[in-house]
Amino acid sequence: MIKFLDLQQINAFFEPALSLAAKKIIDSGWYIRGRASAEFESAFALFCGVPHCIGVGNGLDALTLIFKAYLELGILKAGDEVLVPANTYIASILAVSETGLIPVLVEPDEESFNLNPLLLEQALTSKTRAILPVHLYGRVANMDAILLFAKAYDLLVIEDAAQAHGAIYEGDRAGSLGDAAAFSFYPTKNLGALGDGGAVTTKDASLAEAIRTLSNYGSQIKYVNIYKGVNSRLDELQAAFLSVKLPYLDKQNARRREIAMRYLKEIVNPLVRLPQLSNPEEHVWHAFVLRTEQREALQKHLQCLGIETLIYYPKAPHQQEAYKNGLVYETLPITEGIAATVLSIPLNSMLTEAEVTEVIEGVNRFAN
Ligand SMILES: *Cc1c(COP(=O)(O)O)cnc(C)c1O
Repeated sequence: MIKFLDLQQINAFFEPALSLAAKKIIDSGWYIRGRASAEFESAFALFCGVPHCIGVGNGLDALTLIFKAYLELGILKAGDEVLVPANTYIASILAVSETGLIPVLVEPDEESFNLNPLLLEQALTSKTRAILPVHLYGRVANMDAILLFAKAYDLLVIEDAAQAHGAIYEGDRAGSLGDAAAFSFYPTKNLGALGDGGAVTTKDASLAEAIRTLSNYGSQIKYVNIYKGVNSRLDELQAAFLSVKLPYLDKQNARRREIAMRYLKEIVNPLVRLPQLSNPEEHVWHAFVLRTEQREALQKHLQCLGIETLIYYPKAPHQQEAYKNGLVYETLPITEGIAATVLSIPLNSMLTEAEVTEVIEGVNRFAN
């Protein structure tokens, strides 16, 4: 049986360091906003190549807090429009709508699954104030074109880097490419905690300060509240776990890349469309996503061979009940086509060569 992702195995790799880290926190008697989160924030900021990192409760909060902070600072105002990819996890869109901003959905480029910069112009209105590129599946969006467009129209660029820890774009890390970036440390991500966690990275000191304050009840000095804040902090235990794992991230991403290269080279089945490769050294392969018109049959075939697969995402945000009347878009045939045909096969740093071979042979043996 090849699991899609075996979190027990992923985390067993880091024992006994995780247990030692936990014991240290338990014994310290200090569980929120202490030394461990400060240490992780510095290490992750350094890793991403930015001066500021703020640990928060999860990835959705990281995104939401960025928008809330821009609203508090008067840089955004309610009703401003944010260009977002239609093909993303719902969190990206929730963060925009939750903060009183308007998400405007833009179709992806079929080859990269990421925001198509050529379609930004037609989605632009006099209210557009920001773009939220999502580095889906571990591949950085076309940032050159996005940043150029943003510059031309004076738009903020906020990265959703929840699937792209360690990804590189022309020498710079995801998380350092726009005005601010949101990360998730949900246990299944490339850098995963043993619970919920998230972070914002930015070069902007005043934004960083506003986010840190907002995430702690809008307070810098105990019982003095300058914003209507929230409670969203990365706790000491999760920060300590993440500090154990961060030094291995590049190596584990390199292993993901090796596996992806094998899949790209050795999967040869005319019924299956493989993801397109741009710069192999930059992509961190959070997911390896195939496309096929016979998705159900392929999934069943692999399941019979003991190979677990996953569909992300079977429904795009605009197809969800939650947004039945609430989103701005024209038509989204590319996004809907992607949602109807994608299938992810196992890809993580713990897979053995034999397991990779098994997956390749399983996919290659699939026939009508
Ligand atoms: C996981 C994820 C999020 C949300 O992260 P949580 O920690 O689960 O809140 C946001 N955006 C994308 C693209 C994600 O994959």
